[in-house]
Amino acid sequence: MFDNLSEKLDSVFKKLRGHGVLSEDNIKQTMREVRLALLEADVNFRVVKEFVATVRERAVGQEVLKSLNPAQQVIKVVRDELGRLMGEGEENSLDLAARPPVAIMLCGLQGAGKTTSCAKLALQLRRQKRNPLLVPADIYRPAAIDQLKTLGKQLDIAVFDSQPDRDPVLICEEAQRYAELNGYDTLILDTAGRLHIDEQLMAELVRIKDSLQPREILLVADAMTGQDAVNVAETFNAQLEISGVILTKLDGDARGGAALSIRAVTGKPIKLVGMGEKLDALEVFHPDRMAQRILGMGDVLSLIEKAEAAMDQEDAQRMEQQLRQDGFTLETFRDQMQTIKKMGNLESILKMIPGAGKAMKQMGNMQLPDKEMKKIEAIINSMTPRERRDQKILNGSRRLRIAKGSGTTVQDVNQLMKRFGEAQKMMKKLQKMGPKGMKNLMGR
Ligand code: GDP
Repeated sequence: MFDNLSEKLDSVFKKLRGHGVLSEDNIKQTMREVRLALLEADVNFRVVKEFVATVRERAVGQEVLKSLNPAQQVIKVVRDELGRLMGEGEENSLDLAARPPVAIMLCGLQGAGKTTSCAKLALQLRRQKRNPLLVPADIYRPAAIDQLKTLGKQLDIAVFDSQPDRDPVLICEEAQRYAELNGYDTLILDTAGRLHIDEQLMAELVRIKDSLQPREILLVADAMTGQDAVNVAETFNAQLEISGVILTKLDGDARGGAALSIRAVTGKPIKLVGMGEKLDALEVFHPDRMAQRILGMGDVLSLIEKAEAAMDQEDAQRMEQQLRQDGFTLETFRDQMQTIKKMGNLESILKMIPGAGKAMKQMGNMQLPDKEMKKIEAIINSMTPRERRDQKILNGSRRLRIAKGSGTTVQDVNQLMKRFGEAQKMMKKLQKMGPKGMKNLMGR
């Protein structure tokens, strides 16, 4: 995510750190480079202009230039202002406090990810103990209704039985009555999209809005389309007065322009972000964490949340008990790997650790990912429980048996044992350091 922008800013700040004392000229030069980096990331030019002016003004302030570490202070100002640009400190959670059924209306252009986001949102709300009803109201795109019905089936979430020959406003009204009668507390309306904004579509959306009075009107916008997404948001907001944005496809190589401009241009916050095609890949948007990620400072909080979500309470307790009883064994190693797999792609996880994104680049194309993890798992699975607890008993003939059983080679088994030995040593060190040591390690 935003790799280019992160790299550019990183090299700008590296230069800045090279100066012990900073002059106004240093800051001017730095801000010129920041400006270019933002424009290249497709951030709206008016937003860039204002951003650069604010940072420059704060950065040449006496308390920054005279501070012990002025470069660090300038970076902090940039971090703060990036966060503010994306709405840090402002409320951006969904407002569903109303008499049920509460309606949430999703709108946007075709292909932005509206239907997928409806399903993702329904799943998220069900996890929050709500009882959502999905309502397909796109009668124009062939198969849009079926697509939502299929997604609902996959998630075991109810979908209103919309008929394509009905007026979309009537469909929504009927769904509302159906929800009332059947105890659904949240309606998620999947409205029609078009390739381009057109008046007829807007008129229909306004009619749905007037009739159902949705508590939330969320524009679904594709982050990959950069400034187009910002323009679309502006138009939808002007006509419908949206309450927020779901920015999708942030897992791709979007340049950052949409994420950094939408709130500043429309005044409406990004509330949720799509981080992948999978149905659990919808996350709450945290402007402060996003600013940290853009500046390569990692995002440890999101990492911890991801780990917590991937590991249920029981798993966590079992693992903790196992750690206490047997120490860090091959079994705990395998369980941890499974947790990491559930959290998603390894590379995206590593990027949340401060400094790790950069370190990964320096290491080149690191090949730990999925294939390697599968191999390790197969090897551990081919061991007996006793072997997993005490690798000292692994002599030549046992290693050969394990290699055969897992479809790998003795070298593979040896290599794993070596790696595991190193991991074990590190765990011991970490345990000795305690929580304070962990924090130092994370660089916080
Ligand atoms: P709609 O026309 O707006 O309803 O769009 P769809 O929900 O059909 O999505 C269009 C395509 O975008 C599908 O292939 C989705 O899987 C994909 N998509 C949606 N959200 C995301 C996301 O956050 N990340 C990625 N990588 N793909 C997404």
